[in-house]
This record gives sequence, C-alpha cells and structure tokens, in this order.
Amino acid sequence: MSSSSTAAETAPMTMSHPRAEERLLHLGAGPSAFPIEVLERARAELITLPGAGMSPLELSHRSAPFEELLLRAQRAFAALYGLKAYGGGGEEEHELLLLQGGASLQFSMIPLHYGAGGAYINTGTWSTRALKEARIAWGEEGASEPWSSESEGFCRAPVTEQITLKGDEPYLHYTSNNTIYGTQLRAHPALSCEGVPLVIDASSDLISRPLDLSRCDLVYGGAQKNAGPAGVTVVMGRPELLRRAPVERRCPTTLRYQTHAKSNSLYHTPPTFGVYLVALVAEWALAQGGLEALNARAERRAGEVYALLDRYPSLYQGHASPESRSLMNVTFRLPSPELEERFLREASALRLTGLKGHRSVGGVRASLYNAVTDEAVETLVRHLERFAQAGS
Ligand code: PMP
Repeated sequence: MSSSSTAAETAPMTMSHPRAEERLLHLGAGPSAFPIEVLERARAELITLPGAGMSPLELSHRSAPFEELLLRAQRAFAALYGLKAYGGGGEEEHELLLLQGGASLQFSMIPLHYGAGGAYINTGTWSTRALKEARIAWGEEGASEPWSSESEGFCRAPVTEQITLKGDEPYLHYTSNNTIYGTQLRAHPALSCEGVPLVIDASSDLISRPLDLSRCDLVYGGAQKNAGPAGVTVVMGRPELLRRAPVERRCPTTLRYQTHAKSNSLYHTPPTFGVYLVALVAEWALAQGGLEALNARAERRAGEVYALLDRYPSLYQGHASPESRSLMNVTFRLPSPELEERFLREASALRLTGLKGHRSVGGVRASLYNAVTDEAVETLVRHLERFAQAGS
C-alpha cells in the first residue's frame, strides 16, 4: 500500500457494528431508508444464508438457493399485488420480472415493444424523460402528450380531469408518483377511451398502496425507494406483452421482455444480492399488513405533515396543489433561501437527513417511504412546528 493511502484504505477490515440507534433519520428521496428489521436480518445472514452454506453475495444465480430467493420475491409480490407468482399465468394475470437498468431503461424498452403512437401524461422530469425515449425511437410525431402541467411548474397531476385520447393509442403512460415535484395520481386518470392499456412508472410509490392492475399492461419502477436497493428494476407485466416480440426488429436481446420472461429473469446474471433484499423488503411489507395497511399508515403520516404545513401557510409554501399531493414526497419552500438553509441546518441537528429539495424545485422535500420510521416522521413534525413558532 502506498504511503499516500487514505484512512479509509488503511482501516482494518474488521470493525464493530455501529449501533442501530446511531442511525440518522433518513427522509431522502432515493436510495432511501430500509426497514431496520431487513438490515438486521441481512446482517445476520450475510456470512451464511441458512440452508445455502454461503453468503447471499456468493450464490450462483443458477443455484437452488438463489432460485428459492427469487421465488420468495415473486411470492411476496404476488401476495401484495395479487400477481401470478411464477411464469406462465393466464392472460389477465401479471408476472413479476426483476431486471437491471433502472426505470430509465424501461423508458426505452416500452416504445420498442409497442411501436409508435404511445400517449404520455407529462407530470414532471421522469415523465418527460419517458416521452423523450419514445420520440427517440419513433420521431417527434411518434408519441403524443395529451396532458402536461409543465407550464404550471409541474405542481399538479390530472387527478380530477379527463384525458382526451384518440382511442387508437397502443398505450397510455403515466408516472404515478412524481418524486421531484411531490405530486401523485392515486387512482388511474379518467380517460375519454377506457380501452387504452395503461403503462405506469411507479418507481416512487411501489408497494405503498393497492393498485388496480386490471387496466395495466405494465407497471415498473426502480426498487431503490420503497422496494429494495438500487440496481433492481421491478416490472409487473401482462404475459401477452412480456412474451410478444418487440415491434422494433433491431431491438437488442437484453432489451426484449420476452428474453427475460422466458427465462424467469435469469437470462443473464441478475443483481443477486439486490434480489435477495427485494425478497426481504417485500416479505417485510406483507408482515406490516400488506398494501392496505401501508397505505393507511402513509395517509396518516403524510396527513400529519401536510396539516402542519397548512397551519403555517405563509412560512411553508407547498409545491403541489392540494388535490395532487403525494403521500410519499412532501415538497415545500420557505420564504427565503436563508430560512430554508436554517430549517435544514436545524433539522440536521435533530438527525433528520435527506431533506434538501431536488435542484429543479429547491426548498425542502421530505420522503415518507414505507421504511421511514414513525420516529423520523414525528421528529419532522415537531421540527416544523417548533420552527414555525420560533419564527412567528
Ligand atoms: N421515475 C421516477 C418516478 C423516479 O423517481 C426515478 C428516480 N428517481 C426514475 C424514474 C429513474 O429511475 P432510475 O434511476 O432507476 O433509472
């Protein structure tokens, strides 16, 4: 080792475990908080996964213990969402794929499978990126934008409006939760033509609420907010879509849904440790009572935060219109950069972290994902209250 090695490089490889109570109260937008029970379990199993004789990090993706982990993830998702657990379901049942490439790669895979003509509801940065990929594939006229709140700073989602479609669109894409702007569509948008299949980017509200899959062809998201670690992409799709050849004949093999559906997400080396953690997180979500219970908890907790913001409207200026407010990401500004700075500094002193708003909105963003503890939410609410009282 060179004499210029840093302290981290020379630190001994054996170290004591930091105590759970030393952890910060993580309200960041993603990668985000993990349930402590999942971390404890992963720590206990890190050296030897029971029955496998080795670490989950060391498992071959072709081994029986890994297939069991994958099956556990599929079973837990099946129980949460009412999916078919394992390939080959009926036409109406959705299958779970665990892929790589993040939600961003799905933006590209989707238009390659449907062809031109998709409609995109534009509620923010991620919808805009999804639309951009469809236009890269099929040209400017190759995807439509029947609704956008761009001119209003993306403060709304079409919660109460009807989206007018031509009727022959192969799919309608929307982002169910806009992580950056703090808006959410908690029910499918009303469409002038109900028959158009829905494709949903649910990256930031996966496994946080029940979802009516009957009208959906595809629901997808990066796992790194509610469903596991960065590096795993959750895809729940209708078998007909997942097994059909892409419209674009030059579509690379790894970008074809059928490649992954036929091989049960084992076409190439999956993110094995990530899949293990997705299984643990999904099982944890079930143990919390499933999607109804998690949704009720999210409503209660976000309700407390919004109620506090509403009590001090001249200090806390919410970004989202009230009807579009997200239960997952609460976004607001304070009257000056100095006050925002002080709010964040004082929050850090309370061990609250991850609260700085995204650079395109500024201000403050509190992400209240499933694994955020009640202690973190209560500390935030107390901080909001005390800060407002101290300043008024
Ligand atoms: N969609 C939404 C709603 C997101 O929040 C994000 C990431 N923050 C993305 C897409 C992009 O996901 P990834 O980084 O997994 O590509």
